[in-house]
Amino acid sequence: MALGANLDDPQGAIELAVALLREATEVLAVSSLYKTKPVGGPEQPDYFNAVCIIQSEVSATDFLHMLQGIEKSMGRIRVERWGPRIIDLDLITFGDIQSSDPHLTLPHPRAHERRFVLEPWLEIEPTAHLVGRGLIEQILEELPPSQ
Ligand code: AMP
Repeated sequence: MALGANLDDPQGAIELAVALLREATEVLAVSSLYKTKPVGGPEQPDYFNAVCIIQSEVSATDFLHMLQGIEKSMGRIRVERWGPRIIDLDLITFGDIQSSDPHLTLPHPRAHERRFVLEPWLEIEPTAHLVGRGLIEQILEELPPSQ
């Protein structure tokens, strides 16, 4: 799963979210923090992003609800789509599940075009692949430089 933050103390927000994730589930690996420019949306501060690999026994839906609970407990402000946020937690893949449900799309519909997801993920899982798209190392090589 992927974490992003760009308000107040984004590094602290990501560290807190990882601590809350560790309380709720088994976190196997955490990438370093990546500082990235916002993609689209209004003018806003740079983001900090990271990726975690998690082992979980619960369903994908229950897992998403757990992520949303952490977002809520951290006081995420949902002002405008693509706008700044205290913390954003996205489920990138869940095993090999593929789903087009708008409440939970798997793999995450924009993961394959986001360097700020693929680069931290590659750091902690060099052989990772995105279901239906292939090795993330390969996807990254084919992405334009600044996305
Ligand atoms: P966002 O504002 O980007 O955090 O989007 C949150 C909404 O996206 C929620 O309504 C989720 O149900 C939905 N959603 C669909 N697929 C995913 C996913 N893979 N990870 C996180 N949220 C998702």
